[in-house]
This record gives sequence, structure tokens and C-alpha cells, in this order.
Amino acid sequence: MEQRLLLVFSDLDGSLLDPISYAWEPAAPMLRELQQENVPLILCTSKTRAEVDALRRKMGHRDPYIAENGALLVLPWRFLGKANLRGPYTKDYVLRLGWSYGEVLHTLAELARRAKVRVRGFHQMTAAEVSRSTGLTLAEARKAKQREASEPFRFVDASEAQIRTFRQMARGYGFKVAEGERFWHLMMGADKGQAMALVTYLAEIVEDVRVRTIAVGDSRIDLSMLQQADFPIVMPRSDGAVDAQLLRLLPDAVRASAAGPEAWAEAVHSAVLGHYRNAAQAVRKPRPVAAGDSWRVAAPREAVPAPSGEVRWKSPTSRKTASLR
Ligand SMILES: [Mg+2]
Repeated sequence: MEQRLLLVFSDLDGSLLDPISYAWEPAAPMLRELQQENVPLILCTSKTRAEVDALRRKMGHRDPYIAENGALLVLPWRFLGKANLRGPYTKDYVLRLGWSYGEVLHTLAELARRAKVRVRGFHQMTAAEVSRSTGLTLAEARKAKQREASEPFRFVDASEAQIRTFRQMARGYGFKVAEGERFWHLMMGADKGQAMALVTYLAEIVEDVRVRTIAVGDSRIDLSMLQQADFPIVMPRSDGAVDAQLLRLLPDAVRASAAGPEAWAEAVHSAVLGHYRNAAQAVRKPRPVAAGDSWRVAAPREAVPAPSGEVRWKSPTSRKTASLR
């Protein structure tokens, strides 16, 4: 029988988190269901580790996550197939998939100097300034400033041509410059898709099974992640519109019915059901075992029963408006 493991990768802001209130609570039943079904949910965000850790504590999230747009990968020990029995080994592995923050800041300043443009990065802003620009609380803004491998920044009085020069120059050196909702981002390492590929590959090695992936995102910075997913899901923005470029480049992606955690949960639920249906069909058509396949006995994952057709998880009827702020 062909074993398959399902991994769900999701962006946070504008995907799992409500684009306006930052609320995730309406998705709580779906998060619990994923845990019960042993489906890891890998958060994949531009946020810092400090921000994600605070959120994970509230969510009860224990799976791996990708921070700073792919530059940081955090793997709990148990994801690597190790029993969590000894204190020192309960720690997470933190992998920086790129250059250090100091190197990023140095490069940002140097690129700006060569492109003859002024930039203002997070490290030059106070927490109050970040808070005003983002709508985060002061405490959250402090966490957003605890960066390790990437820098959000703004151009100061720059012309279109200057910005183009800056971007071309950065690309020429092999660095990524992405335009986000409020800030530009200089990234000098893995992007979301590359970090996702690494997690997927690690899961296949550790579990010795084929891995299928669901990915959820709402913006171009999620494209690298969505493009390699077996089930890509695109979230609309708060006005209901979906990023046109995402739609064009991902013609087969599922479009969630609305923005916000409730629609996120509905879309992920449908994709999970789709995976189980495919897995049930695969059981009927067993893959021939190749000679080299049995070199290692995989730790059996708990069997995931294929749903009998009816939807077990129901969308909550009353939408909570609780905010993280
Ligand atoms: Mg987003």
C-alpha cells in the first residue's frame, strides 16, 4: 500500500489571519482537526520568530514553521521522527536558510548607496513607528523588529526609475526584493517555496512516505509556495478581489470563498477531503514495491480514516471578531 503524508503550508497575514483584525480563532476547530488527523500545519510567513512564537502559544501550534519569508526554518525535534522524551531534546532546531541579519543590513545600505536612493529599514524605525505603519500593538511591533535574516524597508522620496535600478541591482547579486502590502522586503536566502521544498523533502526522508502538499496564500510573495503545492489555495483580499497575477499564474488553484480564517478553514477542509479521496483510490491500486524500497522500515503513522463522504467539520455559524490586539 502506498503511504502518503499530507502537509499543509499556510501564509499568516491575509490567509489564516484575518486581513483586518488579525483574528485566527474562527479557524480553531480546523486547527484541532488537523492535529487530530496528524496533518502537520506549517506556518509560512514574513513574520519574525518572536511574532510567530507568540501566536503559536495562543494557537497551541506545535508543527514546524517558516519565518521571515523563507529565511528561517524552525523544526520541532519530534518532526524529525524523534521521541520527545528527554529534556535537552525538546528544543526546536532553528535553521537560517540564508545570510545573517547584519549582512542583510549591510547589503541594503550598500545597494541603496549604489542605486543612489534613500531607504529606511525596520532597524531605523522605533517600535512606535512600526506600530503606526502596521496597525500592530507596540508589543507586537517590538517582536516584528526582532529580525534575524531579512529586512522590511521603505524607499524615501524615490522615483520609479530609482526603485527599478535598486531592484535590478539586487537581482543582479542574486538577492530577492519583494513588494509587500506596506513595506518592501530584502531577502538574501531561501524564499517561501524553497523552505517549503526543504520541509517536504525532510518529511519524505524521515517518514519514508510520499508527501502531498496543500498551500494557502494571498499575495505574490506566496507564489513560490503555491506553485509547487499539489493543492494550491488562493485567499481573496478583504475586498473580495484575488490578486490577478496569482490567478493568472495558478489557473488550477482553488479560490477560497472569502477572506479570513473562516473561509481559510473551509478551503483547507475541502482540500484535505480531496487528499483523502485520492489516498483511498491509491489504496485500491497498490504501487508495485521496488527492490530498494524496503531498506528502511518507516515508523507507522496513525492510520487516517478516509471520510465516508459527509463533512465532519462544520463552519462556525457565528463569526468571532476577537482580535489579537
Ligand atoms: Mg499574506
